[in-house]
Amino acid sequence: MAGEVAFQRCISPECGETYSLDDARVACARCGNLLDVAYDWSRASTPRSLKAFEAKWSHRNDPLCLSGVWRFRELLPFAPPEKVITVGEGQTLLQRADAVAKFVGLNAGRLYLQYEGMNPSGSFKDNGMTAAFTHAQMIGAKRAACASTGNTSASLAVYCSVTGLMRAVIFVGSGKIAYGKLSQALEYGALTVQILGDFDDAMARVKEVAAELGIYLVNSVNPFRLEGQKTIMYRVLEALAWEPPDWIVVPGGNLGNSSAFGKAFAELRQLGLIERVPRLAVINAAGADTLYELYEKRGLRWNGGAVHEAIVDQYHHELDESRKKADTIASAIEINRPVNLKKCLRALEDCNGVVREVDDQHILDAKAKVGAGGFGCEPASAASVAGAKLLREEGVIGPDERVVCILTGHQLKDPTATVAYHSADQEMFNSVLGKRGVRRASFANRAVVVPNELDEIIKAIRLYG
Ligand SMILES: *Cc1c(COP(=O)(O)O)cnc(C)c1O
Ligand SMILES: [Zn+2]
Repeated sequence: MAGEVAFQRCISPECGETYSLDDARVACARCGNLLDVAYDWSRASTPRSLKAFEAKWSHRNDPLCLSGVWRFRELLPFAPPEKVITVGEGQTLLQRADAVAKFVGLNAGRLYLQYEGMNPSGSFKDNGMTAAFTHAQMIGAKRAACASTGNTSASLAVYCSVTGLMRAVIFVGSGKIAYGKLSQALEYGALTVQILGDFDDAMARVKEVAAELGIYLVNSVNPFRLEGQKTIMYRVLEALAWEPPDWIVVPGGNLGNSSAFGKAFAELRQLGLIERVPRLAVINAAGADTLYELYEKRGLRWNGGAVHEAIVDQYHHELDESRKKADTIASAIEINRPVNLKKCLRALEDCNGVVREVDDQHILDAKAKVGAGGFGCEPASAASVAGAKLLREEGVIGPDERVVCILTGHQLKDPTATVAYHSADQEMFNSVLGKRGVRRASFANRAVVVPNELDEIIKAIRLYG
């Protein structure tokens, strides 16, 4: 792609085939691998230091400077400014969380939570959607589709309905999607197709349908999504005065986020904008632990791009044979065939990464601890905190290391899980959580039931308040 600032390139170094930006595809035509958005940085105008981005703060009346994604647009220079579609995504907070630090086993001041639930649709997905939607707009798409465990569809529905520029077509599996998320897609007017199957089935179908009908696909196989998600790391760095933390801990589902984070740091290092790259910890739910199994148990590595495909094929074969379906309360990461597996392996290599799995019990206990801090998160997000705790217990993370956990989605996304955890109603607890092996709610804040009598109410408040 001589002469272009931005283009697409096959992730396989051996292949390295390039495609122009207006070629909407989700895989390399030559070898079938995923694509990256790649840049010829010598043609781009990148700042000499990250601190230069602070100048954008005084231009917040410009939507491109207000957006927590596009104020870093020099680091994702694929869209002309006049084409950018933004709904104010990325106004998120990095919060020092000492109570959660104590729970995790870190010293005070060493744990930070990045609240991506504060995005317009309530999850980090908006960071990526603004970028993919902008690209869809650049190439004149009329419809955009995704398969979703809920948050991708909620995000797509926001961009479509706020801008009125495209029709959203979303594929969801049956009975799995949390109500907070489904309610968004329905109310924002997305065409919602419910497949009688799970997420992995919905994902396979949406690819077929998008190819057949020429619909723009916004799942995280879309390389532009990942460009937007890089900015989560820029904001973390910004909040830490551009000093990289020791660890980034992130839940792993389709592995788009972890892949994007690795790319963000690799590029910043290449550009000389940071000297040190944080270590990356990707946390699977135990009920959907493909990455953990492949990376930690079977030794699968990026290996300079020569990924040992036979290990992956063998594992997929075993999944098919045993008819094993992903199963976890953390529905956003209830995925057994992560589409960004190879990109994530590359990120793990670039960031000296580790992978862990945590069960639903530990996820929900961590979630309750996060929520007790005042801004909650959904179950999948809390896997990061549960994972950090596990890595502390193992001694992989030291007590004085600086750790950032990414809280990927808002607390209100999945009220069912939260209410069941705090409920005194054993039946409700069992129907939502008990069947998943959750036995205790160690940090439950139970409602106090009192008769409708003033004396009794006052007595209860004196006793518990
Ligand atoms: C999508 C999602 C994830 C998983 O992110 P990947 O990039 O697919 O690994 C985790 N948490 C929440 C809340 C999500 O919406
Ligand atoms: Zn290729």
